Amino acid sequence: MTEDAKARLDDVRAQMAQACKSASRTPSDVQLIAISKTQGADAIRPLIAAGQRVFGENRVQEAQAKWPALQAETPGIELHLVGQLQSNKADEAVALFDEIHSVDRPSLITALARAQEKTGRRPRCYLQVNIGEEPQKGGCAATDVPALLAQAQAAGLNIIGLMAVPPADTEAAPYFALLAKLARAAGLTQLSMGMSADFEAAIMLGATHIRIGTALFGARA
Ligand SMILES: *Cc1c(COP(=O)(O)O)cnc(C)c1O
Repeated sequence: MTEDAKARLDDVRAQMAQACKSASRTPSDVQLIAISKTQGADAIRPLIAAGQRVFGENRVQEAQAKWPALQAETPGIELHLVGQLQSNKADEAVALFDEIHSVDRPSLITALARAQEKTGRRPRCYLQVNIGEEPQKGGCAATDVPALLAQAQAAGLNIIGLMAVPPADTEAAPYFALLAKLARAAGLTQLSMGMSADFEAAIMLGATHIRIGTALFGARA
């Protein structure tokens, strides 16, 4: 099992390196986040053994149940929240995660600012943009980025970039390009974009953080 995990990790890393080369980018400028949602500790441990240290989850409760034990086994693991966050889970999220990719509304900014005061922690955050304007998806409207960024910064959040999940089953590249443009306009340097199916395009268009589940763990049950 550790061999399988290592082979998949090596494959993804090789594809990342190739995409960086094509884009004349430095591989160390792109961080691989292993998205371990729905995966149990037995599926995660082989990837840790293979050297992966940065993981992402989409639910606070699931992450709380799984990660403290895994983190106790292996120091130096970084945890990212990539799923929608309810304001009433802000305290738990700030306590557990090193980065939060889904900051998308004024009420959540307020809740996260309070959570920072309570916990004394200040995770790096991204504003999530609903880049395809899909009603069922989280994220703010592209036009709301400047106002939300100003509010978040005034509240003391450490906003480092923008994150998006483009619409499924369409060419993702135009959406990645749009997110990169929005980030540049906002003066933000970090771009969380690209998943198993499209991370090479995301790297070509400037992704600094790619979020990979299936390509590392296999299909989710
Ligand atoms: C599940 C998920 C991913 C990983 O998707 P894969 O297609 O399995 O690589 C990335 N980002 C978010 C926000 C997710 O929920």
